[in-house]
Amino acid sequence: MESTLISASQSRRSFLKRAGSVAAAFTVIKLRASHGTALPGAQTTLEIPWYRRVTRWGQTNITEADPKVYDITWWREHWRKTETQGVIINAGGIVAYYPSKVPFHRPAKHLEGRDLFGELCRAAHDQGLAVFARMDSNRAQEDFYRAHPDYFAVDAEGQPHKAGDLFVTCVNGPYYEEHIPAILREIIERYHPEGFTDNSWSGLGRGSPCFCANCQAKFKECAGHSIPARKDWNDPIYRQWIKWNYQRRLEIWDLNNRVTRAAGGANCIWAGMNSGSISSQCQSFRDYREICRRADIIMLDHQSRSDSSGFQNNGEIGKLVHELLGWDKLIPESMAMYQAGKPTFRLASKPEPEARLWMLDGVAGGLQPWWHHVGAYHEDRRMYQTAGPVYHWHKSNERYLIDRRPIATVAVLWSQENTDFFGRDNSEVLVDLPWRGLTQSLIRARIPYVPIHADDLEREAPRFSAIVLPNLGVMSQGQITAVRRFVERGGGLLATGLSSLFDEGGDPRPDFALADLFGGHTTKPVRNDAAHLKSVGETAHTYLRLTPELRARVDGPHVASEPAIEGERHPVFSGFDDTDIIPFGGTLDSMRVDPGTQVLLTFIPPFPIYPPETAWMRESKTDVPGLLLKTTPSGGRVAFLPADLDRRYGRDNLPDHGRLLANLVRWVTKDNLPLWADGPGLLDVHLYHQPGRLVLHLVNLTNAGAWRQPVDELIPVGPISVRLRLLDDVRGKHLRLLVAGRQAPVKTTKGWAQFQLDSILDHEVAVLM
Ligand SMILES: [Zn+2]
Repeated sequence: MESTLISASQSRRSFLKRAGSVAAAFTVIKLRASHGTALPGAQTTLEIPWYRRVTRWGQTNITEADPKVYDITWWREHWRKTETQGVIINAGGIVAYYPSKVPFHRPAKHLEGRDLFGELCRAAHDQGLAVFARMDSNRAQEDFYRAHPDYFAVDAEGQPHKAGDLFVTCVNGPYYEEHIPAILREIIERYHPEGFTDNSWSGLGRGSPCFCANCQAKFKECAGHSIPARKDWNDPIYRQWIKWNYQRRLEIWDLNNRVTRAAGGANCIWAGMNSGSISSQCQSFRDYREICRRADIIMLDHQSRSDSSGFQNNGEIGKLVHELLGWDKLIPESMAMYQAGKPTFRLASKPEPEARLWMLDGVAGGLQPWWHHVGAYHEDRRMYQTAGPVYHWHKSNERYLIDRRPIATVAVLWSQENTDFFGRDNSEVLVDLPWRGLTQSLIRARIPYVPIHADDLEREAPRFSAIVLPNLGVMSQGQITAVRRFVERGGGLLATGLSSLFDEGGDPRPDFALADLFGGHTTKPVRNDAAHLKSVGETAHTYLRLTPELRARVDGPHVASEPAIEGERHPVFSGFDDTDIIPFGGTLDSMRVDPGTQVLLTFIPPFPIYPPETAWMRESKTDVPGLLLKTTPSGGRVAFLPADLDRRYGRDNLPDHGRLLANLVRWVTKDNLPLWADGPGLLDVHLYHQPGRLVLHLVNLTNAGAWRQPVDELIPVGPISVRLRLLDDVRGKHLRLLVAGRQAPVKTTKGWAQFQLDSILDHEVAVLM
């Protein structure tokens, strides 16, 4: 494996010298393994298309003022210095950066006849770089609208949808069927870029329905109805409109690929762009799973972190998309070198440590770096220094960073249907917060996990010893069957909140579809309505009681009237010995609990906070369950957490919630974890397998800016002591640290390797062979 990859990159360099400016040569590179060390029986001739081979990207997002000042010589040198292998260059769409003959394909404001795209494309090809021609295709000027009003989107009143001065085009009109294909063909014929991306390819989102004649006719043909005049998630026609919109975006994906491949050859792909947020993909009708089934590469437009999800969000989205796309394919991610995020300043440098940690956490999750500047000229030149060091390290260690498989025993299940039909207009509170709280608890506890689409559980089940449903309200019958099978085969399950309570359309079921597994049943109808939203959207003054209570052990005052209680706490309460309650914040309804199911948390209803004199429990004990545990006949462990501690942790960040969630995951996995890492700090750990070795990323997110951007200094942590479970082909004899750049001592005992990392500044990657 390794020798093949090394020889591949060596052959590539010599090939590119020979290839010169022949762009077509990029489509397929034939590699002859030059070493005699290829695996026995392995093919000695490999065909690796460019989109599987180019791992370091760069983009100067051209503004309309740039054609006057674009210094191609300087940027060529920047490509060279940063070891960039491919560039994304603005070509056409709203404006053209070349002299286009396609009617109404208006030149950029200051183009003045210059063929900027052509010059840049030739420069990149001369230097051996691959070129993604970038489109931005969903808006146009008024003259185009006047000439072809049927190309454009209109609202319910028949008025055109506008974005500033520009008119927004309709995905069901000739703009997408004829105009864009004409531009794609023109660019291919003249310039031969390797492929295309598109910034706004999916058109208007869910919040801006189009009622044009084309849309009305097509929807009528599909659904037999007019487009619903207003949003109503309970209306089956509205739900059908949602699904119809998704289908149209897939048609556009396929259409554009047919056009580019017909004109430019089989490897002239069209790759759109996709978001790092599932909620955002939903808003744009982009079906991630279906897109990944047809994509050769995902160009991820996810430039920076938010305070709530942190740098670790980048490692997670890398794993989530790779699980859909395959781990042998590439996912370059646009990483802002400018002050993107909160707030945004397009022309100011992002503090280097902030940009670096975002890049490194993405690399840990399997993403490829793609530096991104807006504009070709900057007076804040500090941003040019950011990419180089990471890119140089990436180049030296590339073989450890691609084509690998994650090792985790925990799968966290998700689905886009859940975000749409359960999350509806409130996916942040109903879907994203529970997900974020649950996964943050795993990251903080250094428990490796993989996001798995619920429809893929059946196929992927053998990899995992436990699965987690973080408030996965909407579940199809097939997904429910897959969860049942998983538990029947002895797998562990942690489910929270309203998991499995809603059908595929978002209608409530009379009881949890998995109620028998949970050991608990609803006692009254539950609705996903405004009242539910209000209760989960607030933090009430409520608590949870841990059972049994341990009052006799407590070093503190005793209530004379209450008997001392002494018992044994369940292992899920490890670390809670000195408390009988934890803060909660949510509300709970009574449940019917099956015999043989343990109730370990009970609800303490709200009581006043102010004034302090009133802050005493009116009802100190109820039988309303907050946590149910049971062991199935096949030995599988099931934890059901009606208390929404995942959402609470996502919002309130209380360590009790995170600790209990992590304890529950360890319990349902029966402590079957491939990795233990002990030591201080917030570390995001990712473990992978390649033939003959384990690759462990530890990204140090311990920082004053960890939860409030930006980071402007790195703070080292250590020592970290690590234990890794050995595999048949990984004996643990040698350990190499890719950031420290040296070998390190390692001990092996009873199937585990053990080693210590004295100090980690930004990240370390340990390779165990
Ligand atoms: Zn329309």
